[in-house]
Amino acid sequence: MAPIPIPAPSKKEPRVLFITPEVYPLCKTGGLGDVSAALPAALRALGLDVRLLIPGYPQVLAGLKPKRKVAEFENLEHFPPCVLRAAKLPVNDADSIPVFIIDCPELYSREGGPYQDTAGRDWPDNVLRFGLLGKIGAILGSDASPLKWQPHIVHCNDWQSGLTPAYLHFHPHQPPQRKAASVMTIHNLAFQGNFPPETVARLGLPARSFNMHGAEFHGQLSFLKAGLYYADHITTVSPNYAREIQSEPLGFGLQGLLSARRGQMTGIINGIDESVWNPATDPYIASHYARTDLSAKIANKRALQKTMALTQDDTAPLFAAISRITHQKGFDVLQQIAPQLVEIPAQLAILGSGNAEMEKHLTALARAYPGRIAVHIGYTEALSHLIEAGADCFLMPSRFEPCGLNQMYSQRYGTPPLVHATGGLVDTVVDCTPATLKNGSATGFVFHPMTAEQLLATIRRAAKLFEDTATWRMLQQNGMTKDFSWRNSAAAYRRIYRMLAGKTDYRTA
Ligand code: ADP
Repeated sequence: MAPIPIPAPSKKEPRVLFITPEVYPLCKTGGLGDVSAALPAALRALGLDVRLLIPGYPQVLAGLKPKRKVAEFENLEHFPPCVLRAAKLPVNDADSIPVFIIDCPELYSREGGPYQDTAGRDWPDNVLRFGLLGKIGAILGSDASPLKWQPHIVHCNDWQSGLTPAYLHFHPHQPPQRKAASVMTIHNLAFQGNFPPETVARLGLPARSFNMHGAEFHGQLSFLKAGLYYADHITTVSPNYAREIQSEPLGFGLQGLLSARRGQMTGIINGIDESVWNPATDPYIASHYARTDLSAKIANKRALQKTMALTQDDTAPLFAAISRITHQKGFDVLQQIAPQLVEIPAQLAILGSGNAEMEKHLTALARAYPGRIAVHIGYTEALSHLIEAGADCFLMPSRFEPCGLNQMYSQRYGTPPLVHATGGLVDTVVDCTPATLKNGSATGFVFHPMTAEQLLATIRRAAKLFEDTATWRMLQQNGMTKDFSWRNSAAAYRRIYRMLAGKTDYRTA
């Protein structure tokens, strides 16, 4: 495919600092990593000057070369000294995203994940690791910035960058001095970054911020609540999730605040990176195919069966899941019905890691049903692509799912998703019924309520339809026709930035 020409950033558009704790391919633990690369790239394709701010974990420093030092923060109160470096993250043949890296060896130079050590324990100094991310974000968005480049908008993502709007709010500022407007995006409300009250002073936040009308959440300092309270605008990653989090149980205690701020909250569905997730070009899959000719898909099923030591069997429907293995993702329910799934007869392939007990249970199931259930514990980009291409039906029995990406990837790969009716899954999957089949909108299977019985009944419904090759083909092609690109969603973010930029003290000229 010829590279799409990317326009030079327009001086008329707002400049955006996109603050994130992870970005694909340097450091990714979930959907946020994908979004942090794909959304800025899509915004740049619309002509916006978007730049990233990310902590300098070892894999970030090693993966971005060359880098140049652009600022030094030697005497930052409350934080160890650090250096700000600039580099570029290549995103496609035509463009790269400028990245600011916070190089602070004392906080980030260590082996392990971005949030946890190699044993899965939260880093004990996360309050400082992400306090610093929030602080530098606020500095770069204010007149205290040492940089010439000044954003109109600081766009914060999840609790790790939640303190930026709070620091900005309390930054002394007299117009015409400059201060960016802030957007806080919720990718998952279940992770809130709550810390003991003494951290308020430790982070240099004023005591008055520790208030019900502020950053306090049940006696703790909540990074996420700080972001939600002080940000100029809130977004979340699907319209349905934006509704769900305004009440129990999915509001996780923040429903009152979110409901009160609903006038400044927008649900925008995530897109997918269509250059990374494309069955016609995907380098990780066994055989390429497209909507117009799905005949090569079966070669991927065979390759997947071989790779995961499942019995070579074209006719048994192959169900699959790729996920964090957690209660949120419904793996406890999936493992309950796995023996009945095998009886259908069907096969089950699982790739994921997470809860140790659930991992053990799944591994035991694979041992009990060799050739029918395969489980790979770990995080493997390559295998995840082969599963999307090789499976017949993709399972997402999530209890809640702010947006979800795999149901979109799987539709693009002609692998109809089977999902619980929650969050972004409702916005992106159309249940297969006689009516939706007739009008060509059916793309998968949606079940409710989230019980083992309903999940199994829906798996049986899918397995039955799988026998009807012509109808199944229609379902696959309906999904492959859908536009899950970032174009529309990026334009929705641009509308919010433009609205907010009109309110800041910046001049866009
Ligand atoms: P969440 O962010 O809640 O984990 P999403 O569906 O939004 O869920 O995004 C998950 C992303 O991480 C997807 O791109 C998915 O393919 C990927 N992923 C999750 N677990 C694994 C794994 N074990 N190996 C490879 N990719 C994984």
